[in-house]
Amino acid sequence: MFNKLGLSDYLLRAIEQRGYQEPTPVQRQAIPPILAGRDLMVTAQTGTGKTAAFTLPILQRLAQGASASAHHCRALILAPTRELAMQIESSVADYACYLSITRLAVVGGMAAGPQLAALRKGVDLLIATPGRLLDLQAHGALEFSELEVLVLDEADRMLDLGFSQEIEHLLSLLPKKRQTLMFSATFSPVIRHLAQAYLKNPVKLQI
Ligand code: AMP
Repeated sequence: MFNKLGLSDYLLRAIEQRGYQEPTPVQRQAIPPILAGRDLMVTAQTGTGKTAAFTLPILQRLAQGASASAHHCRALILAPTRELAMQIESSVADYACYLSITRLAVVGGMAAGPQLAALRKGVDLLIATPGRLLDLQAHGALEFSELEVLVLDEADRMLDLGFSQEIEHLLSLLPKKRQTLMFSATFSPVIRHLAQAYLKNPVKLQI
């Protein structure tokens, strides 16, 4: 049952409205440790419900603290493609419908102007592809010192698409004290290396 996972009533209402009756295995296993602040390494395919597994507890955390300051974000979800980033954004919009959380998708191929204007005010949750995010950061539009949570979604696909340097560069810009959640369809040696380098004592789940 979703109401056994520690999620707030606002999120439970949104989940019900979305029509989900029972949590999927990845949601059941990942939501409690994420709410407890643990790092996580999850091997799971798309279609398992992994998006809700990381977005729901992140939204709960964001709803609790103060909003992000100008040019800052509190949580960052990195996705390999524009399509996946937009899909995550659309799920977040549903799950956050009873919360006042600011969010923004930062992906290539979109006008930079509105993204810059939104970032100027600060956004609680940023959903981004690596290239556009680093562009904005290099132009001084974005700072990471308030970042609390990082998600690397479909990490293996990000590496396959040649984003490994971007990811390493980005990780070097983030505060050391943060929660990191990594999702990958495969657990290859490079993914294992990434997990060893960037996750602290992670809970490991294989779905
Ligand atoms: P994902 O693996 O996150 O891409 O999700 C795959 C699909 O499963 C999406 O269409 C979700 O809306 C749906 N989904 C996620 N969680 C649940 C759930 N607990 N019950 C029913 N459908 C779900």
